[in-house]
Amino acid sequence: MSLDGALERREESPAGNGNGNGLVAVQPARPTYGDRRLRLNPNTEHKPERYDDVQSEFDPAIFSSLERHLPPSMLEVPRDAKIQFMKEILSRYLPEGDRDRVRRHKDYRQKLISAYQPLHKEVYSLHPSAFFMPTFLKAINDNTEESFRNILSEPSPGIYTFAMLQPSFCELLIDEVENFEKWVNAVKLKIMRPNTMNKYGCVLDDFGLETMLNKFMEEFISPIARVFFPEVGGSTLDSHHGFVVEYGKDKDLELGFHVDDSEVTLNVCLGKNFSGGELFFRGVRCDKHVNSETQPEEFFDYYHVTGQAVLHHGRHRHGARPTTSGHRINMLLWCRSSVFREMKKYLKDFPSWCGECHREKKERQRQSVATTKQAFLKGCGGASI
Ligand SMILES: [Zn+2]
Repeated sequence: MSLDGALERREESPAGNGNGNGLVAVQPARPTYGDRRLRLNPNTEHKPERYDDVQSEFDPAIFSSLERHLPPSMLEVPRDAKIQFMKEILSRYLPEGDRDRVRRHKDYRQKLISAYQPLHKEVYSLHPSAFFMPTFLKAINDNTEESFRNILSEPSPGIYTFAMLQPSFCELLIDEVENFEKWVNAVKLKIMRPNTMNKYGCVLDDFGLETMLNKFMEEFISPIARVFFPEVGGSTLDSHHGFVVEYGKDKDLELGFHVDDSEVTLNVCLGKNFSGGELFFRGVRCDKHVNSETQPEEFFDYYHVTGQAVLHHGRHRHGARPTTSGHRINMLLWCRSSVFREMKKYLKDFPSWCGECHREKKERQRQSVATTKQAFLKGCGGASI
């Protein structure tokens, strides 16, 4: 594979961020509530309402999470007005053209869940002591930056690795996935793959694991993301896309260079025996700079270890080298923040997290210092100092 080629942006689940078609629908007249800008930092004192009864394409938890970011003037308005306002914000991520697709996907998911008989019921609800390594659990329970740093390594800036899943849980999950795939083949069902780049693997959320993975993200990834990825919405993760990918003979061999459709990505190797399949990373980039050159310090290769997790920025460019023997299965959780996606539109400055924007800013500063120095020297009559 070539790193010079254009990056492919992985397309994803129907709940993803559509960009609309550029047409702005004319809204009927409605009461206005002053400043309608979202707050950058959540109002942590405010206790959001529950929205379990709201019928929409979005998880009710998203509404509660978004409520903390509402402009102060919106907090006291009737609940219906808040819902309407938040629905408008969220619907920008789901343009009209995608709605049918979402409905079809909902039906598809319902069909799978009602017909498929799980093999290991225990993986469908979260059992922390059975799922996670004791060291990881302790760090999460302590919930401090120090406790996380004790279990994490940061082998390259912005890439965090740690022992996360129990080997027995990895085996159970692989077993469940294989059982699901066997059933899919037996009933001759055409399943939806996790994204446009993987021809194998499946979406865990589609066959009953969505609620478990939501909890997984909220309770076991968000606390870490809050500390290490605050600049990209790590403290406001509110939805996910959970899937497994499979590599090896008769499966996908490798994965091209790409960025994920996520704010923060968790990638955990579940097994089995394999060689090769390293992840190669090439620096974090914004949309504008996604194909820019890699700086020497941004090259990093990661070797998978069963049960070990890698947590990285979704915009950290990466790919997977060929799995040369055996069979490798990884679980991925693309964690997203609707609030961050909304806020991004208001940001005028360069994104601090893009390696290239950062480099350009430093270069501008260097030039400005050089110009000032030159002007100063001229003012001194060109005397050498
Ligand atoms: Zn940039």
